[in-house]
Amino acid sequence: MHKSGFIALIGRPNVGKSTLLNSLVGEKVAIISERPQTTRNQIRAILTREEAQLIFIDTPGLHKPKHKLGSAMVKMARNTMREVDLIFYMVEAHHPPGYGDKQIAALLQKSESPVFLIVNKADLAAPEKLAAHKDFYEKLGSFKNHFVLSALKADNLDYLIDAAVAELPEGPQFYPPNMVTDQPEIFVAAEIIREKIIPLTSQEIPFSVAVVVQDLSFREESELIDIRAEIFVERKSQVGIIVGKGGMMLKKIGTLARKELEALFGAQVFLDLRVKVKKDWRSREKDLRRLGYAD
Ligand code: GDP
Ligand code: MG
Repeated sequence: MHKSGFIALIGRPNVGKSTLLNSLVGEKVAIISERPQTTRNQIRAILTREEAQLIFIDTPGLHKPKHKLGSAMVKMARNTMREVDLIFYMVEAHHPPGYGDKQIAALLQKSESPVFLIVNKADLAAPEKLAAHKDFYEKLGSFKNHFVLSALKADNLDYLIDAAVAELPEGPQFYPPNMVTDQPEIFVAAEIIREKIIPLTSQEIPFSVAVVVQDLSFREESELIDIRAEIFVERKSQVGIIVGKGGMMLKKIGTLARKELEALFGAQVFLDLRVKVKKDWRSREKDLRRLGYAD
């Protein structure tokens, strides 16, 4: 019997959802950062085994939205919860439950899908704290199963995968076995560029940046890929920050992104980056749709 199904990763921003997604499939499918609200879209990662295919769905963290982008992200996460066969509710081992965790746990109690509690970042918690925190989290709801792990170190994931397979219904292989994500290449490339900008900038900039790849083409008869991308910011004053003194910042972003893109595509990359203003795009419905953050 072949099984397949969809598994949503749900939790507060920054608990390690995208890190777990990547560790589960053994490839970098979603970008990661130390800042909350890095993930803006629903990202799927596919794990194919002989007996089952698991499709993990990374979601933007559930938080109290402050602008239309935030609302669209939360809506996406909530919709995902309704459409899946299993939910991984992710929390942090080194922190006791906070207000946000409790809200999410309450929301999950209404879900019809089984929920696994995943206490992540076990590597950061002292053993006695870990046991106490795990107890607190378990009391927030009724969970089908619970796991303590480190998404970063990718410890004990086989155990989690086996338990997940047991919850999935009988079903077909939805994707070809060698496919790890359903995201188009231009989206992956744009996300890699955005990921490089996040730690190099501060305050509102990481949140105000959107990246769109206009063109990604393989040059004929040479191992070279041309990638043309636009970096959008919300205000004129932010352009200078991204470009930097004498263009140094943009160069740094370009170099970091190019290295990773070359590793990803296994070819030399020629990267053309432009910075543009899309005024207050996070608050404009139309821009959110154009940027792929809302439907
Ligand atoms: P998300 O917002 O829930 O998707 O969280 P991310 O996956 O982007 O991770 C947020 C931060 O936590 C990043 O700096 C990760 O490197 C870090 N992180 C994630 N999982 C672990 C873990 O198991 N151990 C440690 N020490 N850090 C982790
Ligand atoms: Mg994320």
